[in-house]
Amino acid sequence: MMTACVISVREYRKEHTFLEKVSHDDMMQADGSAISGFVPDVSSPLSLDTEGRVTLTAETAPVNPATPTQPQMRTLQLSKGDTLQSLLTEAGASKEDIDQIIATVQSKYNLRRMKTGQAFIVTTQNATESQPFQLKNIEFNISDKSVLTVVRTAQGTYEAKVESLTLKPVLRRIDGRIQSSFYSTALRQGVPKNIVQEAIASLTYVMNFQHGIKKGDEFQILFEEKHDRHGKVVKTGNLRYVSFTAGKTQHRIYRHTNNGQVSYYDDKGRSIVKGLLQTPLDASKMRITSGYGMRLHPINGYNKYHKGVDLGAPTGTAIKAAGDGVIIKYGYYGEYGNFVKIRHSNGYETAYGHLSRYEKGLSVGSRVSQNQVIGYVGSTGSATGPHLHYEVIYKGSNINPMSVKKMPSVQLVGKDLQKFNKAKSEIDTHLVALAQPNTIAYLPDNMTDSTQQPVVG
Ligand SMILES: [Zn+2]
Repeated sequence: MMTACVISVREYRKEHTFLEKVSHDDMMQADGSAISGFVPDVSSPLSLDTEGRVTLTAETAPVNPATPTQPQMRTLQLSKGDTLQSLLTEAGASKEDIDQIIATVQSKYNLRRMKTGQAFIVTTQNATESQPFQLKNIEFNISDKSVLTVVRTAQGTYEAKVESLTLKPVLRRIDGRIQSSFYSTALRQGVPKNIVQEAIASLTYVMNFQHGIKKGDEFQILFEEKHDRHGKVVKTGNLRYVSFTAGKTQHRIYRHTNNGQVSYYDDKGRSIVKGLLQTPLDASKMRITSGYGMRLHPINGYNKYHKGVDLGAPTGTAIKAAGDGVIIKYGYYGEYGNFVKIRHSNGYETAYGHLSRYEKGLSVGSRVSQNQVIGYVGSTGSATGPHLHYEVIYKGSNINPMSVKKMPSVQLVGKDLQKFNKAKSEIDTHLVALAQPNTIAYLPDNMTDSTQQPVVG
């Protein structure tokens, strides 16, 4: 039904003064089927014909860039068994071009390191029927931090360069209404798993998750993402805010950095902290074999201050982190044998000695949560039998672990409270601005604190 249709560019301009604003539908109404064939090229009508005429026929008009076009961008992705070579071949690049491109890329990056799923953003230009694929450039991320770009030069050769990838920090808001559990509802709404876990961990302080949640309760989560220059999410950052409305009560939690320490606070500026576990072993499996304070050392035979408590338990009994925190020592340490030390918030540390073995996957710097297994009871180092030597350190001094009931929550006051209130109102402003579901806001580059992990008691 498509017949040849010739209209002059001048006429065309007159009819469509505001080309950008003309939708495909408008075009169809304006000039029927022939125009509809013209639609794919509406962004560049003037480049079509040097004689100032636009010639369209059923054979040549269409969808395919049969005539020289504006640069076109597309994403190619490595599937299993693909190579950059096979992708480019499939896309229509000539063998000569591919050989050159591969050689250029290889000079900067080992293509064997490429994994399935690797995406290439390919921009082509001046495609013609005889050569449908004329490369302008290819770019792909070779790490979280750098991008490799291959550019075609005016001489028709290819050049590769590696640039550092500037990621744009973004704030995303996701809301939800509880279906079954908070966890599953939030995941279904698209909240990343680690953000959901963080949200639950911080809400646990202010509400009872076992009994306090009902279908229909609502939550709002604000978290950071890092976007690459094409707006693709490259990384998830930190949870910045979570609110949970159970019935008529709304719980609101803000992430905030106070004097260099990241923590979560309620809306009154009170930090969210949990008490340390009094005994980091299953209470039914252990007994206190040596208390805190002065005692006769069982091996050396002289009086020595015992800086912790000894908890007797069978070799292999699981040892749990006494609180959320970060592992700061993880390795053999003299008399302590296999040893773990964890830093918690507000000046607390806990230490664990004589382990028979460590839990897999942990090391210095690992973040652990309360009750997470960190190792197993043993008698390495200087120990008469299997037990856990357990210490609590507060601001650099050992204290009796049995005296630690609850770590005090910190109420910000004075200037600190003023700073908190300012940060809080910034978050509240973002919440209002991001009221539409699943919207994002760009943050200034210095507004994130992604490198720091919050340490919650
Ligand atoms: Zn001991």
